[in-house]
Amino acid sequence: MLWARAEGCRVWDADGAEYIDLSGGFGVAALGHRNPRVMAAIASAPVAHALGDLAEAESTAELRRLLPWPAKLGVTGEDAVEIALRTALLATGKPGIAAFDGAYHGTGLLALAATGFERFREPFAAWLPGPVHRFAFGEDPGPLPGDTGCVIAEPVQGRAGARVPPADWLATLRERCDEAGALLVVDAVYAGLGRIGELWPGADVADVICVGKALGGGLPISASLFVRRDLEAVWDLGPEDILTHTHVGNPLACAAAAVVLDEVPGLLGRVAAAGERFASAGWHGRGLLRARQGDADAALRAGVIVIPAGLDGSLVSATPPLTISDAEIDEALDRIG
Ligand code: PMP
Repeated sequence: MLWARAEGCRVWDADGAEYIDLSGGFGVAALGHRNPRVMAAIASAPVAHALGDLAEAESTAELRRLLPWPAKLGVTGEDAVEIALRTALLATGKPGIAAFDGAYHGTGLLALAATGFERFREPFAAWLPGPVHRFAFGEDPGPLPGDTGCVIAEPVQGRAGARVPPADWLATLRERCDEAGALLVVDAVYAGLGRIGELWPGADVADVICVGKALGGGLPISASLFVRRDLEAVWDLGPEDILTHTHVGNPLACAAAAVVLDEVPGLLGRVAAAGERFASAGWHGRGLLRARQGDADAALRAGVIVIPAGLDGSLVSATPPLTISDAEIDEALDRIG
């Protein structure tokens, strides 16, 4: 399917066929596709590209002021995870990573090592860093192995199919991290920025929170947020930033992100109500991170975009724009049947 146009919660293909996008472009389009404020912010940005970590544009500095904690910025969600895991190594000196079954953290080697999807990891098994200690999602891992520098967890698992852990699970992980002298990294790349009804899930217990996807309103940008503020100092390693990217802090993406951070807090009530509408139609999950049994190809033929999900691919997930109306939800669920 070729996308020719996308607006709000709808997408049109090259033949003019119209679809309701329950994927929200993989959870990116939190404010809807081509949100007018986002598009205006991009179009009016006075600097399109600066000098990465050497010289930031004003919109990048402004984004840093808007974020509630010091941040090291990235381009992809995986970058944010990579920064968080490396922060743990720098801060603790311990290479062990505790991660969970069903976890998805990205496809670069370090994030991939922590990812629970065997089919993504297996072809590169010879190269994966570690050690990675894997535990059951939602369960108390018990005392952590002595080499554990961090625990990384999604507050609600996305690609595994909207798996919700027990309410006190992140607090339990916090205790295990404290016992072991490890950092707690909350990977909120999918679940964060309003998707599960909270702006910063895990902020009460995390040392580092990773966000991406929705942050740039459609442009690629991510951030590793140092909730434990002193962690920023572990990156003070000399005159040159030794973990950087050409496009880091891209001014257009930062201008768009400022709009996202301004709009999302006003949508949290709506996310809860819209989530209930999905729940009453048999979709499990939290907020607007939902899944149920289904077939993404059949849904597409019926005019609805959903994403295959679950460890065995038997689920479809719905992560629509947080702006989706009741009428659009009903229309999409009617079409899927
Ligand atoms: N963490 C989580 C929880 C994700 O869902 C994803 C992407 N689906 C990532 C990290 C990686 O993000 P990206 O694909 O932008 O690298």
